[in-house]
Amino acid sequence: MPDVYEKVAIVDPSPGKGTSWVAAGMLAAVTEAYYGEELELHLNMAAANLWKSFAETLSEKSGIDIGYRQVGTLVVAGGNDDRSYIRELYDYQTSLKLNVEWLSASEVRELVPQLAPSVRGAMLAADDYQVDPRLVVKALTQIITAKGYSLLPTRATSVISDSKGNSRGSAGNSFRIILEAGNDLHADKIIVCTGPWISQLNGLPRFVSSAVRPVKGEIVRLAAFDSSLLPAHTIRGITNGRSIYMVPRADGTLVIGATMEEKGFDTAVRSGAVFDLLRDARALLPITAELSFQETIAGLRPATPDNGPIVGSIDESGGLIVAAGHYRNGVLLAPITAVAVNALIQSDEKGVPQEVIPFSPSRLERIA
Ligand SMILES: Cc1cc2nc3c(=O)[nH]c(=O)nc-3n(C[C@H](O)[C@H](O)[C@H](O)COP(=O)(O)OP(=O)(O)OC[C@H]3O[C@@H](n4cnc5c(N)ncnc54)[C@H](O)[C@@H]3O)c2cc1C
Repeated sequence: MPDVYEKVAIVDPSPGKGTSWVAAGMLAAVTEAYYGEELELHLNMAAANLWKSFAETLSEKSGIDIGYRQVGTLVVAGGNDDRSYIRELYDYQTSLKLNVEWLSASEVRELVPQLAPSVRGAMLAADDYQVDPRLVVKALTQIITAKGYSLLPTRATSVISDSKGNSRGSAGNSFRIILEAGNDLHADKIIVCTGPWISQLNGLPRFVSSAVRPVKGEIVRLAAFDSSLLPAHTIRGITNGRSIYMVPRADGTLVIGATMEEKGFDTAVRSGAVFDLLRDARALLPITAELSFQETIAGLRPATPDNGPIVGSIDESGGLIVAAGHYRNGVLLAPITAVAVNALIQSDEKGVPQEVIPFSPSRLERIA
């Protein structure tokens, strides 16, 4: 990505501590492919293809290993009904020519001996990898600080457009950003990337600000004293009709998630949610009952009416850019969103990846 930006400020009261801090870090283009979401699938696949070089660049520039692991994902069936459901999903994903393989109960237990003997079979998505989102935001913060960009630890309350001309006196808009800390910023280009909190920023068109709603998800983190006790693969599964995933990290942490609840901006961790996750985790992977308890946390997925992200400019000058609404796949979508936003900042419409174009904000006017 060319370094063309003269002066950059990042306004955020707690950078890197939003939803991205909570996320499990699955790069799950294939196992997140659902019926009727073919546009999202093309976008997710394109994003997954960018991850290897994105991870290498982040690690190289920050000196931080961000935990990008090319280990593959299994979707395991806890019972016969769960097996039928996953088998249907497998047939659908095969029809889309995705790289999935069906494994019988004995084949999957041979691959992952830690699984419960009751597991009825599984689908292997060998190309669905993982990364550690906490290390990704740490690396990004380190890189932007080293570049000398300002990090302003406050909230933006409003964005105001001034159509008289930009700050260099040429045609085009400039913008004023009102900060909670009391002062204003002026900019020719603004990227609004406030995750699930976009509705709380004044001055945006209603079809954008009202399009994102928070969907709560709880996560439990356990730890093994020896990482070889954990499976190498990410284990997604269905047991008694309920979905669960377990993401093993190289340091012996196991990230278990996640609930899906529509409760506004509430991020309290519900004891019943933790119980459900631990029960279902143990049903598929009994070793979880022996691990030590590390953390529970809840985050807010930025969801949109069609489950797709919102990436594009929303004013005539092209200077007011939105990158939000990434719902369940914001970590996966980070590199392709960066490519699109970089092109939009430079008014290079052709540089926006074609898979991103269906997710422009203007579509929301039609579905609002
Ligand atoms: C439980 C759970 C598990 C998930 N697992 C995965 C996964 O495995 N893989 C995956 O790809 N995705 C996953 N996601 C989704 C992913 O976390 C999100 O899509 C992604 O983190 C959204 O990133 P973001 O940068 O838009 O938002 P955030 O990470 O929330 O960042 C938004 C930032 O904006 C700041 N902000 C908000 N309002 C203002 C304001 N007015 N002024 C200034 N700053 C402001 C916040 O402080 C925050 O730092 C998961 C989400 C949850 C909740």
